[in-house]
Amino acid sequence: MELTGRPIASLGASDELVDRHRSWLEPHFLQAGNTWSLNFRSWVVRVDDLVIVIDPCNGNGRPNIMPMFDMLDIPYLERFEATGIRVEDVDYVFCTHFHHDHCGWNTQLRGGKWVPTFPNARYLFVQREYDRWHPDNAARFASLPYNDGVYERSIAPVVEAGLADLVMEPHRVSPSLAIEPGHGHTAGHCMMRLCSSDEEAVFAGDAIHHPLQLIDPTIKFGDHDDWGAVMETRRRLAADSLERSTLIIPAHLPFPHAGYVRTADMGMWFEAYAPMQA
Ligand SMILES: [Zn+2]
Repeated sequence: MELTGRPIASLGASDELVDRHRSWLEPHFLQAGNTWSLNFRSWVVRVDDLVIVIDPCNGNGRPNIMPMFDMLDIPYLERFEATGIRVEDVDYVFCTHFHHDHCGWNTQLRGGKWVPTFPNARYLFVQREYDRWHPDNAARFASLPYNDGVYERSIAPVVEAGLADLVMEPHRVSPSLAIEPGHGHTAGHCMMRLCSSDEEAVFAGDAIHHPLQLIDPTIKFGDHDDWGAVMETRRRLAADSLERSTLIIPAHLPFPHAGYVRTADMGMWFEAYAPMQA
């Protein structure tokens, strides 16, 4: 899904900052009419003879107070299987966090019951994130009406089916993949690091929603459980990319969906990933 045409002012960046970085923001991250867009998708990683699904989107048939997510009927599974991978082939599912748009397809409705979508997968749930959304702990955290029912529909049925592995970050998944902390957006928000062929990438979830937030980590946008931790996570990501050419792959960037933090005369900037160079 794509949400286009948001005025760039809605991001909360100053006009001065946007103008200063216009040369690299355009055309992907600053679009016609000074707007920006958000994508909603999953990532599929094949490495170490494993198939890993990261952030299984919103899911179908779920009520949401936000109209664009309410009772969706999207051919997600058809599109997924068009990659040549069957849901039965998935070895791991990882949710960077438990907002509705990152864990929905953990489950699907079958015969009136929410059942795991990926029947042979281990679902890697970070304990700290699991605790953040467990109903027993509701009083300790901000309630987010757009996330009502997510635990019951997308998390609890996976645990009940015995497919959940509750892990502590950092957690190594395989020789090339590890879960690492990226706290703040939610209390247990984590990221997945991929090291392959001497290159590194981080699936950064919602640590940022727009690359300007790597340049200026104080650009807030949206709800965060721990705002101080968000800024710290963004600073760490930017430094990592700058120093080691780590590819940052957040959940919501429009095409080309990923990039690197670089330095130039203007200071830090974000170089959009050029897939053909890979
Ligand atoms: Zn999100």
